Amino acid sequence: MTRSRAAHALLVVALAAAPFIVPQFWITLGNYIGLYSIVTLGLVLLTGVAGQTSFGQAAFVGLGAYTTAYLTTRFGASPWLALAVGMAITLAVALMLGFITLRMKGHYLPLATIAWGMSLYFLFGNLDFLGGHTGMTGIPALNLFGFELRDERRYFYLIWAIALAALWATDNLLDSRPGRAIRALRGSLAMAEAFGVNGARLKIIVFIYAALLACVSGWLYAHLQRFVNPTPFYINQGIEYLFMAVVGGAGNVWGAVIGATVITLLKEMLQDLLPSVLGRSGNFEIVVFGILMIALLQFAREGIGPWLARILPARRPQPVPEAPPLATRERVEMNGPLLDVKRARKQFDGLVAVSDLSFEIRPREILGLIGPNGAGKSTTFALISGALSLSSGEVMFRGEPIGNLEPYEIARRGVGRTFQHVKLIAQMSVLDNVALGAYLRGEAGVIRAALRLDRAEEARTRAAAAHAIACTGLAAHMFDAAGSLPLGKQRIAEIARALAADPVLLLLDEPAAGLRYREKQELAQLLRSLKQQGMTILLVEHDMDFVMGITDRLVVMDFGEKLAEGDPAEIQRNPVVLEAYLGGV
Ligand code: ADP
Ligand code: MG
Repeated sequence: MTRSRAAHALLVVALAAAPFIVPQFWITLGNYIGLYSIVTLGLVLLTGVAGQTSFGQAAFVGLGAYTTAYLTTRFGASPWLALAVGMAITLAVALMLGFITLRMKGHYLPLATIAWGMSLYFLFGNLDFLGGHTGMTGIPALNLFGFELRDERRYFYLIWAIALAALWATDNLLDSRPGRAIRALRGSLAMAEAFGVNGARLKIIVFIYAALLACVSGWLYAHLQRFVNPTPFYINQGIEYLFMAVVGGAGNVWGAVIGATVITLLKEMLQDLLPSVLGRSGNFEIVVFGILMIALLQFAREGIGPWLARILPARRPQPVPEAPPLATRERVEMNGPLLDVKRARKQFDGLVAVSDLSFEIRPREILGLIGPNGAGKSTTFALISGALSLSSGEVMFRGEPIGNLEPYEIARRGVGRTFQHVKLIAQMSVLDNVALGAYLRGEAGVIRAALRLDRAEEARTRAAAAHAIACTGLAAHMFDAAGSLPLGKQRIAEIARALAADPVLLLLDEPAAGLRYREKQELAQLLRSLKQQGMTILLVEHDMDFVMGITDRLVVMDFGEKLAEGDPAEIQRNPVVLEAYLGGV
């Protein structure tokens, strides 16, 4: 048994034994911590990992609670049916809120969730059929396999069974194809989209996932309390959930449980302590929480997650076993050019960054696109990869127009790329970063991943990633956090990630920038060996010396136009080129 398994087993035994050992008061507290953990877990994923802030989780809890309260007391519906209805309503609301706000940039989601949280509270409070501010009583106890869960000790098992299942599913999700994409949402969206991730859609899915967890918690709460009123679903509780998630941090799903535990116990303590210190009663703990929240954001942004990750038994990196290869792209021999740029033009307001540029890349060659700073190389690169749209002209890839396609559609056709400013997910291992490159070669979605039904595909993806890593000479760093590598190796990891997508054409934007002499030599060696294996490469470079040794042909740009074209020796003698680079010699 691994240490991690042993720790999990110990926890389950402790939870199972708790109701027999500890006093009633602690069971009540344990129930609340379980309920809060379920909500917080959703927020750890949504806010901690995906970087989307929601103040409205308490309102989703309320939706779950009120739906079951209403359906079971007024219509005598089964609580389980009410749970299904509550989840359907939550899904519809989250879909709508997410659809409206998540496509916009900036702070629309937090604002929308505040508005949603407040309006639902007042709606609950003002609708007579929901009991107004006094709420609804007489909610039946849950019935499970013929057991009535009337007693809090029995309820404890149900709450914690659901909490553990949610932790398991979320942990699974984070370690999967959609999980890698979710982890890219916060800081590396453009990169993830270049590899086929639909960011807007994935954000909505994560938002729904978190809302559904909140709804389940609310359903449990209603049947535990046997009555509901609007108070626990107000925005201040929403802020408290967010606080729990921030305290828990993003490093580990268990952060949700720790965050919920720490805040619940702290609140309990402060509610006892503060009135006696201050000599009067009132919700002073809220003030203390506010101060703590600011202090935490100031001094420990990551919450206690990273600290937790250090003391919890780490998942030991598993060697990546061989697996049947992922499907590879059909490679047809072409006579004509692989890529044909035809009078490509890009205009930014008055500035013509690329001016009717034409050139072609032949199969299995390394073509260098060089020119002084500001010549238009990166813009040309962006036009080919789809990051920018053409003002006019066309780009043909394998005889097919790609000039107006989205980046991921171009990636899907076999164009792999790296980024001038390295875009790796720093905390994620090199293996996971590279596996993200193979995103379009898999299809496992959130549900399959959460239920661990994706393992066969995942094994093949990991094997493909490990192969790309070995091929680029990074095998020794497979399990290191990508951010811990020196810049040169990070650039190589980017190439490995592009290779994991099984490209036909590799686009590299200034791969040698910031590299030391030896690192440049290693990079050149890698590019040569890739070419030998049949890869076609476009190398955008500022550094003339670096490209001279490894390219078959060069296209020289200046002021958005093609200045010269030819093999390295010709270009080196070309007076026009020397003029552009050295200002006339
Ligand atoms: P290079 O990569 O060759 O150094 P770029 O393609 O980055 O050059 O830039 C070419 C020209 O286009 C520069 O004058 C630059 O300032 C301008 N430019 C690039 N991107 C933009 C943009 N998004 N908006 C406006 N101008 C831009
Ligand atoms: Mg550039």
